[in-house]
Amino acid sequence: PEPAPSAAVPDAGSPGHVLLRRVGTVDPLSLDDYRAAGGYAALRRALRLGPAGVIREVSDSGLVGRGGAAFPTGRKWQATAQQPDGPHYLVCNADESEPGTFKDRVLMEGDPFSVIEAMTIAGYAVGARLGFLYIRGEYPRALRHLENAVALARERGLLGPDVLGSGFAFDIEIRRGAGAYICGEETAIFGSIEGYRGEPRTKPPFPVEKGLFGKPTAVNNVETLVNVLPIMLMGGPAYAAVGTGGSTGPKLFCLSGGVRRPGLYELPFGATLRDLIEAAGGMPEGRTVQAVLLGGAAGAFVRGDELDIPLTFEGARAAGTTLGSGVVLVLDDTADLVATLVRVAAFFRDESCGQCVPCRVGTVRQEESLLRISAGADAAAEVPLLREVGRAMKDASICGLGQTAWNAVESAIDRLDLFGGPDRAASDDIQQSTAAGDRA
Ligand code: NAD
Ligand code: SF4
Repeated sequence: PEPAPSAAVPDAGSPGHVLLRRVGTVDPLSLDDYRAAGGYAALRRALRLGPAGVIREVSDSGLVGRGGAAFPTGRKWQATAQQPDGPHYLVCNADESEPGTFKDRVLMEGDPFSVIEAMTIAGYAVGARLGFLYIRGEYPRALRHLENAVALARERGLLGPDVLGSGFAFDIEIRRGAGAYICGEETAIFGSIEGYRGEPRTKPPFPVEKGLFGKPTAVNNVETLVNVLPIMLMGGPAYAAVGTGGSTGPKLFCLSGGVRRPGLYELPFGATLRDLIEAAGGMPEGRTVQAVLLGGAAGAFVRGDELDIPLTFEGARAAGTTLGSGVVLVLDDTADLVATLVRVAAFFRDESCGQCVPCRVGTVRQEESLLRISAGADAAAEVPLLREVGRAMKDASICGLGQTAWNAVESAIDRLDLFGGPDRAASDDIQQSTAAGDRA
């Protein structure tokens, strides 16, 4: 049987929760329970504010995207709303597939009406009459809960031709992915919904201008949208006072690996990596942190002696790493880092859509090199090749998959001193020879 939604939240019901406050405490199938727990008050306030007022509050809140890229949500909504030619669309990206990420799943399973309410507010703000929720195919329970939520919302006039008697018409269609990681890339979602292969498109043009069916589209991650509810209820400036100047509000962290109580944790931005690990009961007796992979497979490693890094977008950036969507994978002193890298490389090789050469070929070459190392080849001799392949993928791939497929390997070499540590001279040689090759 599937685990209960709250099983992934070790401190479910904590009074400090904002985003998770209903997860594990209300019946996710009951609209009455949702309303009794404060549901739909945010939409009522949004309808009083008007679309421009909603966008102003969201901009004032400082909310940035929680899918991993941290783009300002208010700017995205404003840019979509101001496009003259409609119809405008809203897409909720629920194709959560980053290895180690499960935050959106918990929200959709445990508090599905919040996603539907937040989508309705977003649709209202950007001028959309139709929203698509694109959900990962491997999330059957979340799908059932969302389908139930959409049906009940329609029945009660919370979706449909006249939302809450306001004259605003909005409805939601749910589309299910079929197991491809790349279909979570926002432009690949468009292809998938339109009935084509899910392949990324070049950006620009950005979706705000030319998105689903070539029309202005706001694409937002599930967690991003759910943050809009407290923003409507407390106001943008009060929300902005939570967290830090550069990373406002609460954040969900998907903590996995060697800690005592892995699971989903909600903390205001500003806590350190050490705070998060301690919130999870720390490490088991006798174990120490060897390394932490931040941001999932597309992220980067930090060392076990760097646990004071603040879990904020600006803190992670300043430390030369990334927060991504909030994956924190703790590797203890017994973990085999090379085996972990081989898994990461195999994942990207498997999930590359094959559309562009640097990624299609580079992910294969990267995995081959790591497999040679794990079979006992001279690691130092492989590093120049890994760098050359990584650089080509980063510089010349169409989308984020290829551009980030070398991040974890690069950080393992440069930061963890794996494979003999940084080899700048070799790297410089490669860059010079690549430049000479370009000129030729
Ligand atoms: P991106 O930086 O290209 O874009 C981020 C968002 O901002 C997009 O919606 C994009 O359309 C918008 N945007 C950027 N510049 C804009 C502009 N000038 N005008 C209007 N809109 C603009 O990043 P991306 O490729 O969409 O996402 C990469 C991130 O996704 C990575 O951080 C990665 O960690 C994360 N990711 C998450 C998961 C997951 O399961 N949550 C899976 C894979 C990747
Ligand atoms: Fe496809 Fe990889 Fe190119 Fe992205 S970078 S379009 S996943 S081949």
